[in-house]
Amino acid sequence: MRDFGGIVERVPARSVRPRSADEVVEALREARTRRLDAVPRGCGHSTFGQSLTNGICLDMRGLAGVEDVAPGHAVAAAGTTWREVLAATLPHGLAPPVLTDFLDVTVGGTISAGGVGGTSHLHGTQADHLLALDVVEDGRVVPCSPRVRPELFGEVRGGLGRHGVITSATLRLVPAPERVLTCTVPCRDAADLLRLQDGLAADDVSGQAKPSPDGWRYEIKATLYGDGPVPPGTTGTEELPFLAFADRMRPDVEELVALGEWARPHPWAMVFLPRERAADVIETTLKGMTPHDLGLSGVVLVKALRVGHVPMLAAPPEPVLFSVLKTASPGCASVSDMLAANRALLDRARAVGGTGYRVGAIPD
Ligand SMILES: Cc1cc2nc3c(=O)[nH]c(=O)nc-3n(C[C@H](O)[C@H](O)[C@H](O)COP(=O)(O)OP(=O)(O)OC[C@H]3O[C@@H](n4cnc5c(N)ncnc54)[C@H](O)[C@@H]3O)c2cc1C
Repeated sequence: MRDFGGIVERVPARSVRPRSADEVVEALREARTRRLDAVPRGCGHSTFGQSLTNGICLDMRGLAGVEDVAPGHAVAAAGTTWREVLAATLPHGLAPPVLTDFLDVTVGGTISAGGVGGTSHLHGTQADHLLALDVVEDGRVVPCSPRVRPELFGEVRGGLGRHGVITSATLRLVPAPERVLTCTVPCRDAADLLRLQDGLAADDVSGQAKPSPDGWRYEIKATLYGDGPVPPGTTGTEELPFLAFADRMRPDVEELVALGEWARPHPWAMVFLPRERAADVIETTLKGMTPHDLGLSGVVLVKALRVGHVPMLAAPPEPVLFSVLKTASPGCASVSDMLAANRALLDRARAVGGTGYRVGAIPD
């Protein structure tokens, strides 16, 4: 069995698809009796074996569904994808405050990662917007929240499934916009991009660096949910219904699937950098990189964000998430060269007080 990274392979002794929290309890009991590891798996979109095991694979997609949608909150089973969450909440005019750029990942999977999105500069991570969780720990289902078992609540968010299996989450919801306006703002370099990101009054912000004949070209996509002013320097705009905006990766994903790029190995490097050192690390890293090192469909993202209280994420204060999302395409750098470069990036990040986002593919 592999994950989206396509680098690590594990053959589980058994795969279980629990349909209730009690079946999760049962599977974990079996694992304990047989002295096997048990690892929950959402959509398997992490990239370095985080959801893989030679023991018991808990396929959490069997535990999906959204209940009790009400102003302010909804309860989602852990294997529900964010696409399914939106399908349940948007008819009520509601949405989670933070959505990942890609909707086909699970509530349990991204809470266990942290869950960064375009609104994270305002609202932090998805793990910051949970009213409560149900977690299987020590053979039973245990509720936890900022007030009830706060230590367990702290360990499972960003905990990569190693401190308990999340079976359901009470998600905070906010009013969803009907339509949004995305503005493209070119930037001179990484420092300019971060300076502009800081000053933008936009609801959703993402930065990107793209290879160009003269090196790297930087730009910001700043998305307005209301009637705010178009940012200065905007060169293009696009108005979309909110759902089409939230699901904006879908056409690209379909193209990558058709091209075969989606199935290739993805040695993704993602690091949190302290704000004041981020531009240097980004520029140094990209100066040494060519399209050959990134792969045919590789993408480089830069996102300044706010993090609330998610201790397991271990991000520096005022972090910038620098994501070098590589594809080992034919004729490009090999997986092992890409992994070595990822490790060098992590070392560079650590040297300035940064950390890795642990759903990436960085050898320790
Ligand atoms: C195309 C693409 C775009 C992405 N965009 C973003 C993005 O915008 N923001 C972002 O933050 N990340 C992003 N990611 C990374 C992704 O969010 C993480 O890999 C996330 O973990 C994926 O969720 P999943 O359901 O696939 O989880 P998996 O990859 O299946 O699992 C991830 C980790 O969570 C654990 N886990 C899974 N379910 C549970 C559970 N119920 N209880 C406890 N632990 C559990 C697993 O054991 C594993 O350690 C992206 C990935 C891809 C492939």
